[in-house]
Amino acid sequence: MPKAIYPGSFDPITYGHIDIVQRAKKLFDDLIVGIVDNPQKDMLLSLEERKKLAKQALENEGIQVTKVISYSGLLIECAKEYNREAIVRGLRANSDFEYEFQMALTNRDLDSDIESVFFMTAGEYSFLSSSIVKEVKKLGGDVSNFAPPVVEEKLEEIFGLENG
Ligand code: ADP
Repeated sequence: MPKAIYPGSFDPITYGHIDIVQRAKKLFDDLIVGIVDNPQKDMLLSLEERKKLAKQALENEGIQVTKVISYSGLLIECAKEYNREAIVRGLRANSDFEYEFQMALTNRDLDSDIESVFFMTAGEYSFLSSSIVKEVKKLGGDVSNFAPPVVEEKLEEIFGLENG
C-alpha cells in the first residue's frame, strides 16, 4: 500500500482540506499531513498554530492520519524523508489546475518515483479557501459551514482582539 503526504499551507485548515483528507484516506492508509513553513507567503497563523489546529480539527472529526508534520524547503525532500510514494493535492473549480499542473511536473522532474495524485473536492467546497474563511470571519460572518469549531475559535481570538 503506497504511502502519501498531503502538503499545504493550511492557514487555517478548512472543511475543504478535510474533505480531501477523507477522500485520500480511502486510497492511502498511511497518510501524512504536511504543513509547510514558507516564510515567503504571508500567513495569518504561525506554523505551530496551523499544525495544532490541523491536528485538533482532524481528531475532533474522528479522522485518523498517520501524523501531522511541518516541513520547510522542498516538498520532494520531505516526501523522500518520510518514504512517501505519492503527493496528494486537492482540486477545486478550474482556478487550481494550472498551478497544480506546474507543481506536479516540477516535482516529477525532481523525483520521478513520486507521483502526484489529485482529488476533486465536494461541490459544496469547490469555492472554499482558507483566505475566504479568514475574510468572512474578519468581517464578523459565520464560518461554521466552512471550517471546524477549533478554527472558528482561533479566528475569533485573533480578530476579536484586533477589533476590540
Ligand atoms: P497551498 O499554499 O500549498 O496551496 P493550501 O492550504 O491553500 O496550501 O492548499 C493545500 C491543498 O489543498 C491544495 O492542493 C489545494 O488545492 C487544496 N485545497 C484547499 N482548499 C480546498 C478545497 N476547498 N477543496 C479541495 N481542495 C482544497
